[in-house]
Amino acid sequence: MCDDSLRKEYEALGITAPVYEYGVKILEKLEERFREIDRTAEYNQLRVIRAMQECRVSEACLLGTTGYGYNDLGRDTLERVYAKVFHTEDALVRPQITCGTHALALALMSNLRPGDELLSPVGKPYDTLEEVIGIRPSRGSLAEYGISYRQVDLLADGGFDYEKIRENITEKTRLVTIQRSKGYQTRPTLSVERIGELIAFVKGIKPDVICMVDNCYGEFVEEREPGDVGADMVVGSLIKNPGGGLAPIGGYIAGTGECVENAACRLTSPGLAKEVGASLGVLKDFYQGLFLAPTVTAAALKGAIFAANLYQSLGYGVTPDGSESRHDIIQAITLGSPEAVVAFCQGIQAAAPVDSHVTPQPWDMPGYDARVIMAAGAFVSGSSIELSADGPIKPPYTVYFQGGLTWPHARFGILRSLQSLADSGLVKKEMCGGKEEGERDCRKTSK
Ligand SMILES: *Cc1c(COP(=O)(O)O)cnc(C)c1O
Repeated sequence: MCDDSLRKEYEALGITAPVYEYGVKILEKLEERFREIDRTAEYNQLRVIRAMQECRVSEACLLGTTGYGYNDLGRDTLERVYAKVFHTEDALVRPQITCGTHALALALMSNLRPGDELLSPVGKPYDTLEEVIGIRPSRGSLAEYGISYRQVDLLADGGFDYEKIRENITEKTRLVTIQRSKGYQTRPTLSVERIGELIAFVKGIKPDVICMVDNCYGEFVEEREPGDVGADMVVGSLIKNPGGGLAPIGGYIAGTGECVENAACRLTSPGLAKEVGASLGVLKDFYQGLFLAPTVTAAALKGAIFAANLYQSLGYGVTPDGSESRHDIIQAITLGSPEAVVAFCQGIQAAAPVDSHVTPQPWDMPGYDARVIMAAGAFVSGSSIELSADGPIKPPYTVYFQGGLTWPHARFGILRSLQSLADSGLVKKEMCGGKEEGERDCRKTSK
């Protein structure tokens, strides 16, 4: 066994020697970073195991219920496990929560009442929440129910605009929503520490305000979660980090007993709350996914850091950059042309275990103002903890890359994206075009 067998296998998958070697050179500088990530994963793995042991997860918990789902031992135990892992009083973890947007909408709609006001002190929230809140008029939005909304943007340097936040907390303010991940914006992602500073500031002005954190893409990236720094509700999707790639559907709301009870009354019905909601057959995947989530998140994180360093060294704009500390798993790469966005995404698709033979094309997606291309050859449809990428076909031609259930797959996917760019003649000269001695053309000559 030597490097040679590895190189040959990459070659069999269409990675030429110069692309492989370029990746190796980048990786040599990342050993220390990767060790830190492994350490965080180990710490979080132990936290998850301890929570499962303390809640006495048993084989019977892995079975599901049907019908009303009364006395669903596995469901109720899993919710206690989530509460322990996220350091909150209680949690709602259900397959009936269909996605991240649904979990966030549920948390908001169940904890706000007509006349209340919602404040986002971190700028514009995730796209899909615009319709939930009613920033874009929409049927059933919070605005339709007489719940108003205010927003304070971040300062130019990414800092909190404390003065404006203070001005915008009024007697009506009931809930403050804080999005941890930058999502598809250019602002920095918030660390748990910074979230804690913001929550402390808000509570200093109005102690009874509910502080909710949109935790999507942030779970297990750090050793702490927003529940450790005073969040009243922590909300996310199970087809991202905490589902570990195994959860086939679902969302969670971890928080104070009262916030979670409100959410349960809205999800099912007043009076029924958490008592109903059959788990069907998903519990084993929810438990096992949570068990795997720390190391799966670590794999995705290594992929993001590898991609940042690789593309940065080729002269592309990357956010976060190769050396920044990480608080979510998303990597933005600005490729500068529509052809490059398409080639990148086609490369990611070609590295997939499922649907690798499919060639993604840009299309007019509902709700977007430009054509969008998406690459995802996933076991769970739309799962973005699996290796995936997407980009709107508009300047500055940025792709958003995330996921990878294993580090080897993330590594292969990124090399495959670079190969795809190289094959289309789109990679900067330093890497491919030079005719100096010892340099080979990285473009495929056959096939
Ligand atoms: C993915 C995401 C959402 C929405 O989740 P969906 O499952 O796509 O509905 C909300 N906020 C952030 C920050 C996200 O990354």
